[in-house]
Amino acid sequence: SEYILEVKDLKKYFPIKAGFLQRTVGSIKAVDGLTFKVKKGETIGLVGESGCGKSTAGRTLIRLYEPTSGDIIFKGKNISKMNDGELRRTVRKDIQMVFQDPYASLNPRKTLKSILSEPMITHNLYSHKERKEKIQDLLDKVGFNPLFINRYPHEFSGGQRQRIGIARALALNPDMIIADEPVSALDVSIQAQIINLMEDLQDELDLTYVFISHDLSVVRHISDRVGVMYLGKIMEFAGKKDLYEEPLHPYTQALMSAVPVPKKKGVQVRERIILKGDLPSPANPPQGCVFHTRCPVATQMCSEQVPDFKEIRKEHFVACHLY
Ligand code: SF4
Ligand code: MG
Repeated sequence: SEYILEVKDLKKYFPIKAGFLQRTVGSIKAVDGLTFKVKKGETIGLVGESGCGKSTAGRTLIRLYEPTSGDIIFKGKNISKMNDGELRRTVRKDIQMVFQDPYASLNPRKTLKSILSEPMITHNLYSHKERKEKIQDLLDKVGFNPLFINRYPHEFSGGQRQRIGIARALALNPDMIIADEPVSALDVSIQAQIINLMEDLQDELDLTYVFISHDLSVVRHISDRVGVMYLGKIMEFAGKKDLYEEPLHPYTQALMSAVPVPKKKGVQVRERIILKGDLPSPANPPQGCVFHTRCPVATQMCSEQVPDFKEIRKEHFVACHLY
């Protein structure tokens, strides 16, 4: 199959507990039925406002969270119900995560050398000598001076720490990296360096990325195809050009209206669509289309029937009754 990852109706609900007995009184539908496929070597962007479930989606995809239901097929194997032992032998090596705040994910008391050796030791990979070579290779790949090997995380800048985060993710030769807001904490000039590094590494190592971000411009730059999330669901999923230049879903149109679109002749500025109301709570999402309370073109049917997520053009999926 040309797809390295196939996600089918993936859900992740978190129970809401209350009272002395901590009874479950409801659930937060953080991820509520995601379906998409990822081709080997491509970058899928998952974009949406804070609270749309994109981070939970990333963590559920690599089984840091137990899925509530649905299937995750990775390299032909359904990993959604694998036990810890099976996960350790496969997924924990082949899929890695890069986080928003590299500092929080790096142990402050460990040197760069031991941060990079740790995954290899945990997975019992390589001899001592091979590990040393591998570490030199990783430092080289992310553009680090080999003399930095005995330094601690606090001795590095934010951008350097994210390079360490990336090097650590590469230590086990993964096929896929899930990057959750990997540049959001960095200055814009540093963001570009990290994005360029990720693109170079992707070409060199044939990596597949799922790139999670609230930043439409960054997602546009790095992605081949993009999914737009709202309240735990994908509203639209399409090739980057289609999605950014001809968005079909009213929510995507509203998001895109805030971003100037570079065109051949100057910059085309779309009329800004301001959404009414606030983002509803994922503990109590609207009936029917979850976007209907804010959609400028909602009809009666929208508050009653959930729209199907359908492919209306080749590789262009939309969940909306208009189509
Ligand atoms: Fe708007 Fe209705 Fe489409 Fe939902 S289904 S996006 S409410 S038009
Ligand atoms: Mg997030």
